Amino acid sequence: MKVFPLYEGSYSVDISKKFIPFDPAMHDYKDRPGSLFVYVQPFLIETSSHLIVIDTGLGFKTESGELLIHENIKKAGYHPDDVDLVLMSHLHFDHSAGMVYEQGGKWQLSFPHAEYVINRGEWESAYSNPSKSYRTEIFDIVQRSGSVNFIEGNGRLNDQVTYELTGGHCEFHQVFLIEDGAEKVFFGGDILPEPEQLLRKFKAKYDFDPTRAMELRDHYGKLAAENNWFCLFYHAKSQATGRVELKGDAFKIVEGDKL
Ligand SMILES: [Zn+2]
Repeated sequence: MKVFPLYEGSYSVDISKKFIPFDPAMHDYKDRPGSLFVYVQPFLIETSSHLIVIDTGLGFKTESGELLIHENIKKAGYHPDDVDLVLMSHLHFDHSAGMVYEQGGKWQLSFPHAEYVINRGEWESAYSNPSKSYRTEIFDIVQRSGSVNFIEGNGRLNDQVTYELTGGHCEFHQVFLIEDGAEKVFFGGDILPEPEQLLRKFKAKYDFDPTRAMELRDHYGKLAAENNWFCLFYHAKSQATGRVELKGDAFKIVEGDKL
């Protein structure tokens, strides 16, 4: 298995839920009051039988007009048309905007040959609970393409991919485990968005169910340590991947080998 973080940059986000580029070397934190500072990186995974994108980033374009996630996939040595699975942890804008893109006034799928794997409850709640976190015009385009595989609860997608409904961050958030040979890759989405979240226990106001989200971080941290999972962190500042060790009741993130 090979894993490539597709780094899209760092951003400040305030109550408007707009992602504004933020570079600590150029910008001042004081100029962005009431903001969260987040880093964004979807992942590309090549297994023995699939080319997988997990969460699709912000849908931003480069200066030359190319979709950022497309450029990053090409830099990794692959082509977006070869992606056959797009796994979605949830549909908040920062994870789903890159599912589609506009070219010459026409909207289309970013991964035209892929099956988009989305939790059915998440899809329905995005439409029935309008909020700044969801952009349903993106989902309309995905739906028209007929490429969606709606899944529910826990289960197995194929011989390599299993999923679990977690809730916590949003009501129908899900996580994925990808197994290929002896290697196991875990994507916790916004349940385990950055390694630092394992190092101290806290309830976060941006979670739908903060208590459950806190318990889930602990739950998946322990499973990651027990099973030697290679973990992918979508919002990591510096360490996008790593393995987890548990010493007593304290987690430690180890960089370890690369995949
Ligand atoms: Zn997020």
